[in-house]
Amino acid sequence: MSILRIEGVQKTYESGQTTFQALTDIGVRVEKGEIVVILGPSGSGKSTLLNAIGGIDVVDSGSIIVNGNDITQLNDRKLVDYRREEIGFVFQMYNLIPNLTVYENIELTANISPNALSISEVIEAVGLSGMEDRFPRELSGGQQQRVSIARAVVKAPKLLLCDEPTGALDSATSKEILQLIEKVNKEFDTTVLIITHNQAIRSMANRVITLKDGKIESDEVNEHQTSAEGVEW
Ligand code: ADP
Repeated sequence: MSILRIEGVQKTYESGQTTFQALTDIGVRVEKGEIVVILGPSGSGKSTLLNAIGGIDVVDSGSIIVNGNDITQLNDRKLVDYRREEIGFVFQMYNLIPNLTVYENIELTANISPNALSISEVIEAVGLSGMEDRFPRELSGGQQQRVSIARAVVKAPKLLLCDEPTGALDSATSKEILQLIEKVNKEFDTTVLIITHNQAIRSMANRVITLKDGKIESDEVNEHQTSAEGVEW
């Protein structure tokens, strides 16, 4: 069974008298343990799709089946549970809570997750040992992104959804963060979806999906997969 199966998804945005079709007949399958990179220029529908998969946004029609459950059929209460238990999000701007320490930022999600992993094990895995008591402002961008990855991974999510995870980082730090995502994928068997406009990131994917004007333009196994080590800017 695919961990994620999307069929016939449509999404329109209404603004005033006009409607804008952001997603048209999207169909995608993702297998457990895959790293899938979804590429497309700005405005192609990447965030709309990722937010729909993450249960942040709703679609007009079609199905989004995660681990056997169609999340388009869930009520608001069940969607909260779904996001809490099954989804880890990593954002471009980290979105850490500024007045909580590294440990507390991670603990916050661990405490509400029924399948939480050991916090110290995850801190060790993301390379933040010794920094548990620091506040986000005392960390570099790359270190903050490590915290946000730890915060997502500690839930043992079914899907790790990454929205331009290296968009705010220099190229050397970006490579470190992509290597970390790869490590998490292997070590915790986490299925990863990365949306980006950055073509360089495609080389680390098992599969690359390209979006254009809200439609899937291509969906291909990456025959030339290199590790994140080999990603070249
Ligand atoms: P991407 O992530 O690829 O940049 P988005 O999914 O953010 O693309 O947006 C796809 C299209 O939908 C864009 O043309 C954008 O302007 C439009 N869009 C996104 N969110 C809204 C919204 N809340 N209301 C109206 N239009 C939106």
